[in-house]
Amino acid sequence: MTRPAVHLKPREGRRVRAGSPWVFSNEIVMDDETKSLPRGGIVTLAGDGERNFGTFYFNPKSLIALRRLAPDPDAMIDAAFFAQHFRHALAMREAFYEKPFYRLVHAEGDGLPGLVIDRFGETLAVQITTAGMEALLEPMLAGLDAAVAPQTVLLRNDTPSRALEGLESYVRVAKGDMPDRLALEENGARYFADLAHGQKTGWYYDQRENRAFMARLARGHSVLDAYSYAGGFAILAAMAGAREVVALDSSAPALALGEEAAAANRVSARCRFVKANVFEELERLWGAKEAFDVVIADPPPFVRAKKDVETGAKAYRKLARLAAAVTAPGGFLLLASCSHNMGAERFVLECASGIARAGRSASLIRQAGAAPDHPVHPMLPETAYLKALVYALD
Ligand code: SAH
Repeated sequence: MTRPAVHLKPREGRRVRAGSPWVFSNEIVMDDETKSLPRGGIVTLAGDGERNFGTFYFNPKSLIALRRLAPDPDAMIDAAFFAQHFRHALAMREAFYEKPFYRLVHAEGDGLPGLVIDRFGETLAVQITTAGMEALLEPMLAGLDAAVAPQTVLLRNDTPSRALEGLESYVRVAKGDMPDRLALEENGARYFADLAHGQKTGWYYDQRENRAFMARLARGHSVLDAYSYAGGFAILAAMAGAREVVALDSSAPALALGEEAAAANRVSARCRFVKANVFEELERLWGAKEAFDVVIADPPPFVRAKKDVETGAKAYRKLARLAAAVTAPGGFLLLASCSHNMGAERFVLECASGIARAGRSASLIRQAGAAPDHPVHPMLPETAYLKALVYALD
């Protein structure tokens, strides 16, 4: 097989030599021939002498210019390649979860860069973020049929980051019929998700274990679930015996899904879903001296790009201050960040500083990330985006 080869600059590529799946554009020889290679095409990567680092896809316009698909430079990237990865990913999830509701594929963490797949029973929500994976759409879908045989496949290819790869934004049903909303099960609770219109792929499986942890603390107590989306934390807390749960979100459709979930789990009497801006509502509650025994604040990413780190850090600090201010004495507080560009250490510092500014002292009782259906490539620890901190307050 003759595949175009991209060449590492001499003495560059320390990370890929050590086993990282990423090669940055400044690490490769960007001559005219390389620049003219098709966006998203399959290439090999050659280093000094005979060294060849495997099969990659290439985007001459992207900062992460190459992403590795296989260590073998002659690997066939076809339906069988995908099916093999899907079977492996499936076996891993089946080891953790009894029911078919989980993230089935988490990009590099499952050896498939640029591809995320969330599973809702027989329905899959697929998200492609790179030109290289977009070019492999057909064999990828064929591999899914062979390994998972879903009834319905929705392509949620509308993440803003696609523009950086030169890709258009679209949402399309690739297989089957897509209902308006789907039921899913997590931690024994029933929830509803709108895959086509909801955020991301429709559901945030990453918080599964943190929801279970907070639910254990909620029994007999009052709970505030700020940025509730479709009720992930709120419903489970109510089911675990919380006395009263208030869920806040700015999205009316998300809150409506939460209300439906409350009814399906017979906890409506103890749940209230309130459309509000979280910062404003926290200020109001604080002013009114209202407090909750358990407070959860799981906001959208405050840092979307590296340049926003400082403003984002300030927003996390402010949220920590306000959330701590409405946590009752002896209560528990969860603060989360899903910003890739907010490092874990910095997040811990900002949260600590916000809590201190609220005049509270606290002990950190849990530092967690995403659930294990969001595996991380061992050479890319920076892709572990979710940070969830739980504090016991004075
Ligand atoms: N905690 C949720 C996920 C939260 S995602 C879960 O467990 O599933 C972030 C949520 O914040 C979204 O639902 C979005 O609608 C909401 N949101 C964004 N900005 C907001 C604001 N200023 N006030 C209230 N909600 C906001």
